[in-house]
Amino acid sequence: MLSKFYDPLLTLVFPHACRVCGGSVENFADGPACSSCWENTRVFDGSETLCSKCGAFLSEARSERVVYCRRCDDQSFDRAFAAGFYENALTASVLNLKREPFISKRLKSIFIKRFEQSDLNRSEVIIPVPLSSKRRLERGFNQAEIIADVLSKATGLSVDSRSLVRKIHTPVHRAGMDRKARELTVKNAFEVKRKNLINGKTVLLVDDIFTSGSTASYCAKVLKKNGANEVFVLTLARAD
Ligand SMILES: [Zn+2]
Ligand SMILES: [Zn+2]
Repeated sequence: MLSKFYDPLLTLVFPHACRVCGGSVENFADGPACSSCWENTRVFDGSETLCSKCGAFLSEARSERVVYCRRCDDQSFDRAFAAGFYENALTASVLNLKREPFISKRLKSIFIKRFEQSDLNRSEVIIPVPLSSKRRLERGFNQAEIIADVLSKATGLSVDSRSLVRKIHTPVHRAGMDRKARELTVKNAFEVKRKNLINGKTVLLVDDIFTSGSTASYCAKVLKKNGANEVFVLTLARAD
């Protein structure tokens, strides 16, 4: 018999085992991880020092100065923010979102709070990082669009998931892939279809994870080439 919590749209049946520690998830709002694994997941709250451009973690203590990691100098976006580190509950949530179009209530609230802290409300349109049509078909949805919808509902900003497209099907980024290899796979992969909707706009690009920044940078580059004024990036997690 199906549990009364069973939702046919969700394979994440509740109650279930925490995808991080295997313990029991007591609260549905926590999604794929238990509350103690959430407590062991570092989220950014403004008390730390991050690179003022790419959001790389620089130190635990807050610096009053504007600081840059300098590794992101060549990247084309203006500012990038993530809700927290790609670890524990955030890793479980990002991996789960690749399997099913579901974002837990806990992650939504962390993500929206990060948006509010980051002074991103001057963005004019949210653009999810696109998947190639082949991968979108395989997966059935684009996880970045699910994140964009969550943000749109909370902020009232509109989502444009059609103006930026990924024309080349690139292999899934493997953990062992180095920075250079990743960059080669995304270079020239993006294209703007409806230039008039991008021209003069401040764009908020959203994605599940920020790794080397190359995907966001190539998206930003093509958006700016087509007239975008500024490009900000907001992701659920950052890997390095
Ligand atoms: Zn756990
Ligand atoms: Zn940086």
